[in-house]
Amino acid sequence: MTDCIFCNILKGNIPSYKVYEDDFVFAFLDITQVTKGHTLIIPKEHVKDVFEWTPSIATHLATAIPKVANALQKAFPDMQGLNIVNNNKELAYQSVFHSHIHLIPRYTNEDDFALTMRSNMDDYTSDMMQEIAQNIKNQF
Ligand code: 5GP
Ligand code: ZN
Repeated sequence: MTDCIFCNILKGNIPSYKVYEDDFVFAFLDITQVTKGHTLIIPKEHVKDVFEWTPSIATHLATAIPKVANALQKAFPDMQGLNIVNNNKELAYQSVFHSHIHLIPRYTNEDDFALTMRSNMDDYTSDMMQEIAQNIKNQF
């Protein structure tokens, strides 16, 4: 796509700090560096979000994740953890609409990145959980 930032990075029209590439995916440093080594993995094929992933795109992205994760761990021995984040649609904080996976290393000395998942289980009965699961199951 001509007006897509990440397609333009792939074409070399916009510079990037490449860390990994194969026939299907490209990985480069995120320009914001939420933490040191914050990397994006993108499919070379332009797809907006996870809802457009084909099984082949999913396979290639999933194959690249542990490769890049292990490279990060080796590059930064002080890395104590890693968040893997994929935002889909604006409500979920997606801002670039060429699907991408964030790999965000975690270090003990950094406290300005909070990724919290608060439990809301007080709002759910087991009947509600059963109904929610059944509803999702019915969609396959
Ligand atoms: P999202 O919010 O869509 O999950 O993440 C988009 C990410 O793309 C952001 O973290 C942002 O910093 C990164 N980004 C946006 N424009 C550029 C760019 O031109 N180069 C690089 N390397 N990253 C970018
Ligand atoms: Zn694109």
